[in-house]
Amino acid sequence: MKVLSVASEIFPLVKTGGLADVTGALPKALAAEGVEVRSIVPGDPTVLKALHGEKVHHFDELFGGPADLLVGEAQGLHLFIIHAPHLFSRDGSPYVGPDGLDWPDNAQRFAALSWVAAEIGRGLVTGFTPAVVHAHDWQAGLVPAYLQYGGGRRPGTIITVHNLAFQGVFPADLLHALRLPASAFQPEGVEYYGKIGFLKAALHFSDQITTVSPTYALEIQMSGAGMGLDGLLRTRRAVLHGILNGIDEAVWDPASDPHLVARFSAKRLRLRATNKSSLRQRLGLAPDPEAPLFGVVSRLSHQKGLDLLVGALATLVEQGGQLALLGSGDQMLEDAFASAAVASPGRIGVRFGYDEALAHLIQGGADALLVPSRFEPCGLTQLCALRYGAVPVVARVGGLADTVIDANAAALASGVASGLQFSPVSQETLESAIIRTVAIWFCQPMWKRLQRNGMKTDVGWTRSARQYVEVYRDAVRSRS
Ligand code: ADP
Repeated sequence: MKVLSVASEIFPLVKTGGLADVTGALPKALAAEGVEVRSIVPGDPTVLKALHGEKVHHFDELFGGPADLLVGEAQGLHLFIIHAPHLFSRDGSPYVGPDGLDWPDNAQRFAALSWVAAEIGRGLVTGFTPAVVHAHDWQAGLVPAYLQYGGGRRPGTIITVHNLAFQGVFPADLLHALRLPASAFQPEGVEYYGKIGFLKAALHFSDQITTVSPTYALEIQMSGAGMGLDGLLRTRRAVLHGILNGIDEAVWDPASDPHLVARFSAKRLRLRATNKSSLRQRLGLAPDPEAPLFGVVSRLSHQKGLDLLVGALATLVEQGGQLALLGSGDQMLEDAFASAAVASPGRIGVRFGYDEALAHLIQGGADALLVPSRFEPCGLTQLCALRYGAVPVVARVGGLADTVIDANAAALASGVASGLQFSPVSQETLESAIIRTVAIWFCQPMWKRLQRNGMKTDVGWTRSARQYVEVYRDAVRSRS
């Protein structure tokens, strides 16, 4: 089966978050199941640098200028790239300009991605006519709409929701510029509360809908977490599936990770101590042998609940803990963590910005990884933590609830606990979780049990790739 994956990010070429990890790793796991995946991505400068593709099509006019469709391979990925300098030749983030604001033409930029993907779905490229077009998030949301309105061949379509908070909503007067017919502007089309909704359109038109964990698939059908789309999702629940993300076990392997000072395995856990020392040194933390070291690797945003952690830092320090935080995003949160680090020298260490190597060192050196998200579609950092023997301490929401087994009495008694969960998400429950974590830390046999259980957990892609294959088959069946 041939599948076209459509996304704005793909690891290791362009990444701002978990979306890239998934679109980078899933094609390899699907290849093992006999699915031939090619991924189409915008021709951002970093992508073009990695690949000198061969031109397979020329567009005289693609949303404001000429463009070429390139095909080629980079870093083991089979890619289509839209080389459209007027849309994508911009350094930095794929979404925001140097002023920190969204690029003003984001609607056109990602409509172009969806438009070209739909054309490939119809058979534009000889030798690669996909049975299924798999769109990821709002940036690819118009693919099924273009296939619906454009006529011609109609492959099966899937939208995967990586985060319902990002919906791609744009002014109604762009309808024509986005090459959508006037008839599309209705509730049974792309209209969304008087505007154009890219993700809404995808949820309406796709044959199949997936999101990235079973619990998130249920949560988003409820008015509290559905972010305006819960009603539509309820009407489509028969084709809505929660399929857990995995992590790329070659990229995230503590036994061979080049970013670690000491590589280790479940049998050689003692070696983690070298990474812990190195991490402490890098973040200016004291070499206190008694202190459990908590790690955070995260976007700094309201979703991630890190404002709650700011409030809980006094408890963390009082309990004798230390914190190593790597994050980027919200300036107020950066300022709050920076002040906390100044107020607690040697106990709280912070780094702001994006740093792949440090992210790996935190996973391989911290004792516990904190993930206090208010909502979390799947979450990848807790999966990395499980694999790296950093005990995840997570909010009981979304994919965090599905992937970490809380160290409650029953789970401890039956020897299956792999981390700690807390609920509901608040500063108080986070503080209690920190206190509970420290208590378990001081009972080292129990702690090691959690680490080993975590390291045994299946966090790879194989099982989920098979579930995607089933969904692809359903999408194809619904078209025949
Ligand atoms: P989200 O996609 O919501 O940001 P996920 O947990 O699904 O959250 O994925 C986050 C991914 O981004 C993980 O691979 C994590 O290691 C990485 N990451 C997050 N923040 C940083 C950072 N500041 N530096 C390096 N990697 C980061």
